[in-house]
Amino acid sequence: MSPESSNETRYLGGKVALVTGASRGIGRAIAEQLARRGAKVACVATTADNCAETVAACNARTEGCVAYGVDVSHTAAVKELCGAIKKELGGLDILVNNAGVTRDGLMLRMPEDDFDRVIAVNLKGAWNFSQAAMRPLMKARGRIINISSVVGVTGNAGQANYAASKAGLIGLTKSLAQELAGRGVCVNAIAPGFIETDMTAGLEADAAAELLKSIPLGRVGRAEEIAATVDFLLGPGGDYITGQTLVIDGGLTL
Ligand code: NAP
Repeated sequence: MSPESSNETRYLGGKVALVTGASRGIGRAIAEQLARRGAKVACVATTADNCAETVAACNARTEGCVAYGVDVSHTAAVKELCGAIKKELGGLDILVNNAGVTRDGLMLRMPEDDFDRVIAVNLKGAWNFSQAAMRPLMKARGRIINISSVVGVTGNAGQANYAASKAGLIGLTKSLAQELAGRGVCVNAIAPGFIETDMTAGLEADAAAELLKSIPLGRVGRAEEIAATVDFLLGPGGDYITGQTLVIDGGLTL
């Protein structure tokens, strides 16, 4: 089967998926891939307007995808949003916690706010959605995927806040996997390496060239390659995988 026709397999028909950080980059690629599989996708970013293009692209592949806006770090607002999505889209089968931010700097000079904000969005945001969506996910025997990072596994000078948030996501993933296995819910993390998106666009040319040298496959990754891993975990290949972190980094961490 050609990749194009295998993409047409709509094994998520009738399912509802919620993807945070869906306005651009990795989240947008994930939302579009899930729509290609037939899922109704709730596309979440800081504002619904930011997700308008993603939703249009998703609805070209399936129907019923909707844009929502929320700050993922606001617990009460996330709870309210999950209730509304469940009502409007008819349930919730898949949660992809992808929204994330960076506020890089060496620890010695890192303002407390930069630590708090990165933890609040990247880690607490995932906790907020996981808790708010837990009942419908248990009912659906659904799946949770948390987008961590290789730096959550290795650490990274200049990213103590970000690396801590991403390592925290791995701990959250393993704990939730244990709590929810008995309810038939698989919970996994993906740890991407260097992926070409807005988040990495600011890297200076010298630093980018140096980084490239350390990637055995000799290139940066594409958002679609992370979406393909999400696709794998949500498909039959993921039925017996839980509590794991899949590192997708072109060999960077070898
Ligand atoms: P990106 O292009 O910067 O997009 C970030 C997304 O997160 C946007 O949709 C943004 O929404 C959303 N977001 C940020 N703060 C939010 C908040 N408080 N509430 C709701 N939504 C919020 O990032 P990306 O490169 O696609 O990264 C996606 C995920 O992969 C992140 O968790 C990142 O840490 C992780 N990751 C990326 C790489 C990489 O190399 N790119 C590597 C490893 C891990 P708005 O458009 O509304 O701002």
